[in-house]
Amino acid sequence: ETPLVEIRNLKKYYPITKGLLKRTVNHVKAVDGLDFTIFKGETLGLVGESGCGKSTTGRTILQLLQPTEGEVIYEGKNLVGMNTRELRKLRKNMQMVFQDPYASLDPRLTVGEIIAEPMEIHRLYTGKEKDKRVDELLEVVGLSSYHAKRHPHEFSGGQRQRIGIARALALEPQLIVADEPVSALDVSIQSQVINLLQDLQGQFGLTYLFIAHDLSVVKHISDRVGVMYLGRMVELADKHDLYDRPLHPYTQALLSAVPVPDPLAKRERIVLQGDVPSPANPPQGCTFHPRCHACMEICKTQRPKWTEVDGRYVACHLYE
Ligand code: SF4
Ligand code: MG
Repeated sequence: ETPLVEIRNLKKYYPITKGLLKRTVNHVKAVDGLDFTIFKGETLGLVGESGCGKSTTGRTILQLLQPTEGEVIYEGKNLVGMNTRELRKLRKNMQMVFQDPYASLDPRLTVGEIIAEPMEIHRLYTGKEKDKRVDELLEVVGLSSYHAKRHPHEFSGGQRQRIGIARALALEPQLIVADEPVSALDVSIQSQVINLLQDLQGQFGLTYLFIAHDLSVVKHISDRVGVMYLGRMVELADKHDLYDRPLHPYTQALLSAVPVPDPLAKRERIVLQGDVPSPANPPQGCTFHPRCHACMEICKTQRPKWTEVDGRYVACHLYE
C-alpha cells in the first residue's frame, strides 16, 4: 500500500467575532486535528452526522479551504503553504464531486461547456481534440455525445451527477473527493451512481475519499471507513473490521441504526442521547461523553488519544 495523501494534525477553525471591531471571542473548530492516510487506489469512506466536519475535511485536503494548522502531504509534497503556481499544477490531480448536482453545474452553460471548462482553464486540450474528449467523457459516465449541446436543467438528478463526474474526470485526476455524491438522489438512483464510481475507479485507477452521513451508503464502495464526530476522527478501520466489530461507542450507535437484511441478525438499537453539541463549545474530555453509554470518569476530563489497536485506529479510553 502506497500513501497518496498523508494528513497530519489537520485543523480548520473559524473565528467567531463580536461587536463592531470584530473581536474574536471564540472559534468554531470545524476540523480539530486529523491524522490519517489515503492509500493509492483505495476508497476511504468518511462518515458522520451533519456538521461533524466531513465536507470541511474534504475541502481542506484539496486546499479549496486554507487549513488553520497541519499538513496535507500529497505524494511527498506538503500542499499547505505551497505557492499558487505549484499548487495549480498539482490540483489537476485532485477533483471534487459535489453533493448537489442541481446547484453545482452552471445552468447557463451547455453540458459540453461544463465538461470542457477545466480543460480550458488548465489548457489541457483545445479545438477538435477537446470536443472529442468531451464526447469520450460523456460515454464513460453512461451518457452520449448528443447530450453535449443540452443544458443541465434538461437532465434528471442522477444524470446531472454523471455530468459532474465527467467534469471531475476531465483532467485525469488521481484523487476524487466525493462529498455526499448521492445524498440528493433518489434511493433507486443512488446505487447506479455508486456503481458507476466503482467502475470508473477500476478503469482509471482512481483514489476516492467518499463522504457520506450514513454508514450504509459507504459500505459497498469503501475499502476502509473513518468515522468523524465534532471535527475529529473517532475510529478508522478496514471496512470488514469496522462493520463486524465496531470499537468506538459512537460507531456502535451509528451501526445499530443501519438496517440489516437478515431480521434474525438484528442488532440491539443503541439510541444516542441528546443532540450533537456545538463545535464552538465542545464538551471537555472526550467530546462524545455526554452522549456515550459507556462513559467513565476519565472521559469527562481527558481527551482520548488517537491510538492504533490491531492495525485499526480508535480514540476512546476503553482502548488505551
Ligand atoms: Fe465513551 Fe469514554 Fe470512549 Fe468517549 S472515551 S467514547 S466517553 S468510553
Ligand atoms: Mg457536508
